[in-house]
Amino acid sequence: MNQGKAMINVTRPFLPPQEEYNKYLNSIWESHWLTNNGPLARELETRLKEYLGVEYLQFTSNGTIAIQIALKALGITKKVITTPFSYVATTSTILWEGCVPVFVDIDPATLCIDPNLVEDKIDEDTEALLATHVFGFPCAVEQLEAIGKKYNIKIIYDAAHAFGCRYMGRSLLDYGDIATCSFHATKIFHTGEGGCIIVHDSELDREVSLKKSFGHVGDDHITLGVNGKNSEFTQLWDSRYFLI
Ligand SMILES: *Cc1c(COP(=O)(O)O)cnc(C)c1O
Repeated sequence: MNQGKAMINVTRPFLPPQEEYNKYLNSIWESHWLTNNGPLARELETRLKEYLGVEYLQFTSNGTIAIQIALKALGITKKVITTPFSYVATTSTILWEGCVPVFVDIDPATLCIDPNLVEDKIDEDTEALLATHVFGFPCAVEQLEAIGKKYNIKIIYDAAHAFGCRYMGRSLLDYGDIATCSFHATKIFHTGEGGCIIVHDSELDREVSLKKSFGHVGDDHITLGVNGKNSEFTQLWDSRYFLI
């Protein structure tokens, strides 16, 4: 409180009534299934797909690993055009994946990457564009998609601020070759730690699914993977609050 004025804390995480969460804990204690694509994680994926109106969605351990897996799944190894105005994870994931970030300035009206400045930065090593829907404002998705097609560049949206945002009747998370989201405790919809990856075809969805669970199914080691899974304990949501 400041000089008697009420403070609205915009990053205070929402928590459901504890009894609601206990219901989920009870089911975990009954099943002893704690992680590895358990029933609660799968149910959350199903509910999120319905809520967002998307066909393919993978629940991940956070929004940062979601971007890393997106870059890996698309086979990006060289230059990635991106925005300097975002959370650090947008750029650090590009560097962590051994790629080169190429900054393009933002449009002051939307705070998102300025689509009119992108083409000048494209060269033969440019493989992807990673742009953030800043504060939930949509990037210039049509213009960026056209540029992506023209130069054969993959479009990845860091949609960490865009849960629940819609553009032209569709969830903003439904745009791009891949969109990622963060469900960190400070975000619009949260699971404490968490995130997701949204793609548009079953082959890429399978690749993402493999990459987030060590690249193997049983004893078949199919591709290089990492651990991007989430556990059964992150079900802080409740249908009455978020996902109808
Ligand atoms: C929060 C955030 C991330 C990182 O998400 P985590 O779930 O914290 O790893 C990435 N990009 C943007 C724009 C964010 O706001």
